Amino acid sequence: MARSRRAKLGEVTQDADGVTASVTDRASGRRYTVRARYLIAADGHRSPLRLALGIRTRGRRLAHVVNIAFEANLGAALRGRPVGLAYLARPVPGTLLARLDGADRWVLMVPYDPERGEGPADFTPERCAADIRAAVGVPDLAVRVLPAVPGTGRAVHTWELASWVAEEYRRGRILLAGDAVHVMLPSGGLGANTGIQDVHNLAWKLAAVLQGRAGAGLLDTYEPERRPVAELTCALSTRLQEERAGAGGEDAAARVGRLALGLGYRYDSEAVVADGEDGLGESGRPGTRAPHLDLVRDGRACSSIDLYGPGFTLLLGPAAAADALPAPDRCVAGDGCLEVLRIGREVADPSGRWAAAHGVGSSGAVLVRPDGFVVWRTPVWHPGTARELSGALARVLALPRPSVAAGR
Ligand SMILES: Cc1cc2nc3c(=O)[nH]c(=O)nc-3n(C[C@H](O)[C@H](O)[C@H](O)COP(=O)(O)OP(=O)(O)OC[C@H]3O[C@@H](n4cnc5c(N)ncnc54)[C@H](O)[C@@H]3O)c2cc1C
Repeated sequence: MARSRRAKLGEVTQDADGVTASVTDRASGRRYTVRARYLIAADGHRSPLRLALGIRTRGRRLAHVVNIAFEANLGAALRGRPVGLAYLARPVPGTLLARLDGADRWVLMVPYDPERGEGPADFTPERCAADIRAAVGVPDLAVRVLPAVPGTGRAVHTWELASWVAEEYRRGRILLAGDAVHVMLPSGGLGANTGIQDVHNLAWKLAAVLQGRAGAGLLDTYEPERRPVAELTCALSTRLQEERAGAGGEDAAARVGRLALGLGYRYDSEAVVADGEDGLGESGRPGTRAPHLDLVRDGRACSSIDLYGPGFTLLLGPAAAADALPAPDRCVAGDGCLEVLRIGREVADPSGRWAAAHGVGSSGAVLVRPDGFVVWRTPVWHPGTARELSGALARVLALPRPSVAAGR
């Protein structure tokens, strides 16, 4: 997506080979055409591209909200209580007050109802100041209303309190990401995180396809991996919001759920080779994030997570059979696609926890994707599993199965 301040994306068409987009430079008004093989539509919750494609959304739209940014000393009202976000009943139920900095800058979020004829134009600076005083409970509070968007004269910025997920994340060569395909309630601060995870999932897949290291089928795994995460995240942020808006505040179970949701979900798609009934441990299961472990590489401390990318990484346990090492140059996906690291050789494991953390034995092996998710693992590495690895890579990369064995 072109940067919105500089360029506006207009009509987009696609054919069998690529996408053609009409773009207007905002400063000069010059129009030009961009041709690309794929397009990522990260154009926000109003997503003109999603609308143009006719992709429907499923979920709830709860309220229209204005953001009022302001400066005021709330010290007396807070009476020493540290407040980052407050749920308030005035000027109307559902009002939120959030701190913008460590000093006197705040934002008040006030629901309004277009069905009753209310709109952003009603929020004049005088009305904004009155709403702030009502929310804080100090009738004579000294307050300065700030422009909602710096550099503009607009007093308020509007958004929609909503929880929905698009029914499709892809239409041909257009892949949608971020708020264009999911909007969740602000509780938990999960919206941007979920969008960033979308493109983290998509970037290596697009790169592999564009560089000819993967078949276009790899892109078919984007939606099955990411849409369920958005649906779960929407459900959790709704639960958090209900708990926070109620008397009891956030409960511990919801907090654990949020952490698990951010980091603990498991993908189930063609880009993962699920374990069979082989007694492997839960941690390190294919489709989950490879766990963090303190390791040492080239004499320097590192996290195991630092080992991953830009290609696939095969980690071999300290007791794995060295005579069955795969040859990267014969790897199905071409040169440089697979880095082989042996625990105890290229990488040291001072805590001795690598095998347990990955749910395999010390002679096991784990294959990790460029985005740090486990693809495949085996409890014991031997020449037969080296061939299995080539098959797994071919499947994940949507390539024809290799005719050459990977062992040497
Ligand atoms: C009150 C509130 C609090 C939040 N707090 C958090 C939080 O604590 N943590 C968190 O993770 N998330 C939070 N979020 C959610 C987060 O802000 C969004 O999920 C995130 O900004 C979405 O990013 P995005 O890039 O998908 O879309 P956007 O940020 O909306 O960006 C889309 C961009 O595309 C541009 N665009 C649209 N159409 C065109 C076009 N035709 N041509 C060119 N450009 C175009 C837009 O101008 C915009 O710049 C919060 C949201 C709200 C409303």
